[in-house]
Amino acid sequence: MITESATRIALIYPELLGTYGDGGNAIVLAQRLRWRGLPAEVIDIPAGEPVPGGCDIYLLGGGEDEPQVLAAEGLRRSTALLRAVNEGAVVLAVCAGYQVIGASFPTGDGQVHDGLGLVDVETRRSFDPPDQPAPPRAVGDVVVEPASDLGLPVLLGYENHAGRTRMLPGGQGRPLGVVRKGVGNGTADQTDGIVDERVIGTYLHGPVLAQNPALADLLLFWVHGPLPELSGPPEAGILRQARLRALDVAA
Ligand code: GLN
Repeated sequence: MITESATRIALIYPELLGTYGDGGNAIVLAQRLRWRGLPAEVIDIPAGEPVPGGCDIYLLGGGEDEPQVLAAEGLRRSTALLRAVNEGAVVLAVCAGYQVIGASFPTGDGQVHDGLGLVDVETRRSFDPPDQPAPPRAVGDVVVEPASDLGLPVLLGYENHAGRTRMLPGGQGRPLGVVRKGVGNGTADQTDGIVDERVIGTYLHGPVLAQNPALADLLLFWVHGPLPELSGPPEAGILRQARLRALDVAA
């Protein structure tokens, strides 16, 4: 049951968009609220179910091509997510989810599918001339220097995708950051992701919010404004520290 005062975190189609553990982003957000004494409600939206309006944060994760197409088709049947965003809801969309909230995305069979058009990006296997071979699948660790005005430390994650994603000409929004290691969007400007108002798309799995708690807190700030200082257990930072060491990145 959804309680009035709880922050409502919707996890969209986890059976389709849950291949890479991105459902952990919901757990991180809920736990960081609870550590602050604030109630949180994680609402799983099963595949095929209508997306409810009225949630504060909507999460979409990564997935394989076929489930991704099913997710896009399911989401395109309703305008609920678009309406929620217009009313100020926060969206975090990872990898396949990022591609799905854009204008269009490919599958391995060469087809191009309509996305939701929530953000002004498009995804293809390659943006090189057709006589060039498509680039290899992007797999591995990613380090992203976030856009400075976001006030975030370096972002860590891993990626596993064939698609390359670019802004539409004249589109709204800007990259989440510049890639220091890995591929990200895979475009010449070496960026990853998009930020458009309160919608973020990124190629970072991890789950990204577990590796980057400051990004989780930015999403929560967009919902709540300034939050009490967190007095969570030290375990909260252990993954972050371990990943910084593993990637040889200064904090
Ligand atoms: N199927 C998409 C691609 O390969 C997304 C993969 C993912 O979500 N990890 O580009």
